[in-house]
Amino acid sequence: MNNNFQDYRKLIEFLKSKGDFNQELLDAMYNTPRIDYVDEAFSHLVNFNDALPIGYGQTISQPYIVLRMLQLLNLNEKKIVLEIGTGSGFQTSVLSKLVSHVYSLERIKALQLNAKRVMRLHNISNVTCKHSDGFYGWESKAPYDAIIFSAAISEKPLHLIKQLKLNGKLIAPIGDKKQQLIMYIKKNGSVTEKVFENVNFVPLLTGLC
Ligand code: SAH
Repeated sequence: MNNNFQDYRKLIEFLKSKGDFNQELLDAMYNTPRIDYVDEAFSHLVNFNDALPIGYGQTISQPYIVLRMLQLLNLNEKKIVLEIGTGSGFQTSVLSKLVSHVYSLERIKALQLNAKRVMRLHNISNVTCKHSDGFYGWESKAPYDAIIFSAAISEKPLHLIKQLKLNGKLIAPIGDKKQQLIMYIKKNGSVTEKVFENVNFVPLLTGLC
C-alpha cells in the first residue's frame, strides 16, 4: 500500500479508496498539510503512505493508520480526546479539526516544542500539550470520550479505563514485536475488547527526555 503520490490530494484520494473513510475525516487530514510536520530533508517522501523519521528515533505515523484509528473512535465536535505520543503533532492537528478539545502527552521535550510551534503556525487553539509520561494518562483532565495511543504498549492499558467516560473508547497498538490494534470500550461495570489488524508502531517508552 506504500505508493508514492505526486501530491497530497492524490494520497488522500488513494486513502479514500482503501479505507471507506468518511469525508469529514478525509477533509480534516487534507486540511492538515503533512509537509509542515516533517523535516525538509524528508519533504520528497511526504506523500508516501508510510511512517517517516522525525528525529529521536521516532516517526510521523502512516497516514492510513491515522485515519483508521480516528475512524474507529467515532469522533464528533463534542468529544474530548487524550492522545499519548504527540510526536510531530500531525495526528494531533487532524484530531483538532474533528473534536472539541485534544489533550496530548509527549515524553520528548524537543518533539513536544516543535509540535506546539507548528500547531501555533496553523492557529490551532483547541489542543493542550504536556511534557509527560503518557503511560499514566492525564488524570486531572479526565474523563475523556476517547484515548488514543500513538506508540505501542506491551500490556493492555486497562489502568486508563478509569480516565474514560462511560461508553468511552481507548484505542492502542498492543504488543512488543508483534502488535495488534485493539479498542476497549468502557461499559457499565465491564470493558469490551475489539481486536483489529496487525500494526507496526514505535514502542511506548518510560521516563522523560
Ligand atoms: N502520531 C504521532 C506519532 C509519533 S511516534 C505522529 O504522527 O507524529 C510516537 C510518539 O510517542 C513519539 O513521539 C514518542 O516520543 C512518544 N512516546 C513514546 N512513549 C511515550 C510515553 N510514555 N509518553 C508520551 N509519549 C510517548
